Amino acid sequence: MTVDDIRIPDAIKPVDGRFGSGPSKVRPEGVEALSAVSRTFMGTSHRQATVKEQVARLRRGLAEFFAVPDGYEVVLANGGTSAFWEVATFGLIRNKAQFAEFGEFGAKFVKAVTDAPFLDRPTVHQAPGGQASYLRAEAGVDVYATVQSETSTGVAVPVRRVKGADEGALLLTDATSGGGSLDVDVSQTDVYYLAPQKALGSDGGLWLAVMSPAAIERAFAVKATGRYIPQFLDLVTAIEQSRLDQTYNTPALATVFLAAEQVDWMNSQGGLAWAVKRSSESAAAIYGWADRSTFATPFVTDPALRSSAVATIDFDDRLDAARIARILRANDIVDTEPYRKLGRNQLRIALYPTIEPSDVAALTACIDHVAERL
Ligand SMILES: *Cc1c(COP(=O)(O)O)cnc(C)c1O
Repeated sequence: MTVDDIRIPDAIKPVDGRFGSGPSKVRPEGVEALSAVSRTFMGTSHRQATVKEQVARLRRGLAEFFAVPDGYEVVLANGGTSAFWEVATFGLIRNKAQFAEFGEFGAKFVKAVTDAPFLDRPTVHQAPGGQASYLRAEAGVDVYATVQSETSTGVAVPVRRVKGADEGALLLTDATSGGGSLDVDVSQTDVYYLAPQKALGSDGGLWLAVMSPAAIERAFAVKATGRYIPQFLDLVTAIEQSRLDQTYNTPALATVFLAAEQVDWMNSQGGLAWAVKRSSESAAAIYGWADRSTFATPFVTDPALRSSAVATIDFDDRLDAARIARILRANDIVDTEPYRKLGRNQLRIALYPTIEPSDVAALTACIDHVAERL
């Protein structure tokens, strides 16, 4: 028998073996609900009421879930968070941005802005993997941007405004994995943006943004300068289309439906407070286990920075984490591999509210089972 033949007993396995950070677990109940509308919703026009009602349900559901203050709007369009970075580059930054960058996702937004010939070079505060960096007031900066939970490293920071920032400066928060897992007061930011394939437990392809009145005003003001903005990336178009419960071009209908279904489910369970509690229970299970383990340790050394959206766990040199992930996969426990570019002997585990805390606890037992046999 080779180690790769290790069979994990069914009795200790999680009920659902999906621990990927994105796409992440989609509830079977959501897929069943989608299947129930397979002839009446799927394959129908996105300009008609049947689809527009689902877009409206999603926008309404998110507004309730994030308890959006008066005047804030839920805007959506195609392309996922990566598209939103380009949208913001063209449509929200007037001249100069400042970034707190502490991982690969934050770095991608920095690159989009650095490459834009019509913007000043951004100020970037960097921190190595596993640590955080922070925004600080700087004259002339009109957009501040940070990630709430850096999915590549498992570091999370609170969402709060930059004290002493210029009047009217905006704060943009990448909540792609944090949004729905971590607590937030959205009045503390101007754009809280995410994509549905992470904590929202839907599929990919859309970006969703909770926007403050100041951010909406900024989008119109930037457009009014006459700057070249590709049509597909035009934030004003996205705002206007969203107000009509539409998208500029054809969305993935299944993604819209699954996201609306999921947000309604989370609201019916107790909303954001409930979701945050679920994720923290999962976080307590995985970090508590790693703290007690003789061979695993949380990669993020400062407990205050450990994300309860995505956990990163280092293994000591005696154990090959990639091999553990491979054995788990052969036992239907999937997507525990680390973010590749981080290059660590590590597993990465999503703790989104869709995932049962008891399944995260079961996963730790499975890792122990495998480790004992290596
Ligand atoms: C996954 C992720 C993204 C990228 O989202 P896409 O929809 O794939 O473009 C961006 N930021 C964070 C924090 C993420 O976790």
